[in-house]
Amino acid sequence: MLYYPSTLCRWALPVERSSPYIWVTWLTKLLVGENSCEWGAWFRAHFQNYDVTPGTFDSTGWQLKHTNLLNRIRAQLEAQGKTVFTENQNKFVLRGQSATLGGKPDLIAISGSAGTVFDVKTGAPSPSHHVQVMVYMYAAPRALGQYRGVTFDGKVVYEGQEVPIPSLAVDDAFVRNLVELIGRLAGPTPARKAPSLMECGFCNLTTANCPERVADAVVQDGETGDF
Ligand code: SF4
Repeated sequence: MLYYPSTLCRWALPVERSSPYIWVTWLTKLLVGENSCEWGAWFRAHFQNYDVTPGTFDSTGWQLKHTNLLNRIRAQLEAQGKTVFTENQNKFVLRGQSATLGGKPDLIAISGSAGTVFDVKTGAPSPSHHVQVMVYMYAAPRALGQYRGVTFDGKVVYEGQEVPIPSLAVDDAFVRNLVELIGRLAGPTPARKAPSLMECGFCNLTTANCPERVADAVVQDGETGDF
């Protein structure tokens, strides 16, 4: 039985999953240190049907740009004679002993025993985008039978820019970090919580599930005569 704050009885209780489930995008900012609050991902790994904050993100505009860019990449790769699989064709579930990892690479192009994982981004470049592709490079040949034996490199595609990721980037150190993080999120002990304006501003959990959520700017200040 997992620890869970008793204050939740005032709201509809989230439903505990039968076993931990982790979506790739919950890992990427934690892996590169853009986010240090592991508790949110731990909570999502163990519970489902939880309340989320109302979104302000323009998902229709994002979807239009993303699809447009993805279609252009697919057409270029097919013109080069590559076999291309997109989005739901690449959806995977990789079952481990402690957790299940799920993800959906935007596009995979295959040519013989070489493959490339593409992920298309519409915003500013970020290291977490590269790590997302690296997790796909790790998981795709293990989870999807048609890619067994395929060596993958990767590419993050932005409007007007492509960032290549060599297959060697997914080395032992990367896999060790990934496995350790999954272990912390899959375990019964709640992971580290690090509430701050920055962390909570990008987190969709509500105070019903995370009472420590920081909603307003609280800037601590002091005075010094040193300067
Ligand atoms: S609301 Fe803030 S403290 Fe709570 S899980 Fe999300 S980021 Fe962490």
